[in-house]
Amino acid sequence: MNTIQCNAENPINSIGLYLKNYFGKKTVKLSLDGGFTCPNRDGSKGVGGCIFCSADGSGDFASNIPGQIKLLSDKWPDSNHLAYFQNHTNTYASVSELRQKYYAVLNNPEISGIAIATRPDCFSEEIYELLDEINKKTFLWVELGLQTIHQETAELINRCYPLKVYDEAVKRLKELNIRTVVHLIFGLPGESKQDMLDSVRYVCKDKIFGLKIHMLNVVKGSQMEKLYPDYVSFCSIEEYVSLVVDALEIIPADITIHRMSADAPRPILISPDWSYKKRTILNGIHKELKSRNSWQGKKCL
Ligand code: SF4
Repeated sequence: MNTIQCNAENPINSIGLYLKNYFGKKTVKLSLDGGFTCPNRDGSKGVGGCIFCSADGSGDFASNIPGQIKLLSDKWPDSNHLAYFQNHTNTYASVSELRQKYYAVLNNPEISGIAIATRPDCFSEEIYELLDEINKKTFLWVELGLQTIHQETAELINRCYPLKVYDEAVKRLKELNIRTVVHLIFGLPGESKQDMLDSVRYVCKDKIFGLKIHMLNVVKGSQMEKLYPDYVSFCSIEEYVSLVVDALEIIPADITIHRMSADAPRPILISPDWSYKKRTILNGIHKELKSRNSWQGKKCL
């Protein structure tokens, strides 16, 4: 368990800091495209994807791994590297395919661990066993895209699984001592500030390893663009920053923070038109924490 305590000098338990302490040096995530698809796109659960998800495809994976790793590790030669299976649903394949793809990465001496982003409805007992095996050998976290705990919103965004499926996945991952990161989105259509903070409280009660939060971006190629072309999740950076700080105050200090803003590429970003200003947003969050004399978990004490 992470033992970092937050305070005015160290207000956020960032994953960057956690990894630096864990590995003893700066650790960079290398985002890899595993060539997976998603049950919300291929018709087995839904079609068209979650309404905020851009439709970017995924390339041929196996032959690309060494090249991708080399390219990215050349960029950060003195760093430690984690392979991050980010695109689409990275447990959505047969166990043999998953094994081959995960180990193709892990067998690379440049790689010290692996992060796997997926949906909570894409596990089987065989997949849990594979993850358990990997977790016992190396550094692993599994990232679950939940977005919201509210069923009405889940239906509206076409998530295509109920909250109890998430609960079961978190429970099983916890039994296996696998670090679990939960992904929430702020500003989904119809949600109040209270709804969003309730989602934060709910996921934190399970003592998860990490939390990834960002504002809803409307991007080109998503269903949002067609259904709600004029939708803007937050009218200003200040409004978003204030909500993130409200959330940080109720997130226990031992939960690592993986993200606090979205990073949609500018060419596909529709709204909010300021959301690409990651540095400004992060500075705003730190400034707001300072002005409140607050920090992550302050309201949990
Ligand atoms: S957000 Fe995730 S689960 Fe939803 S459509 Fe995109 S890849 Fe699939």
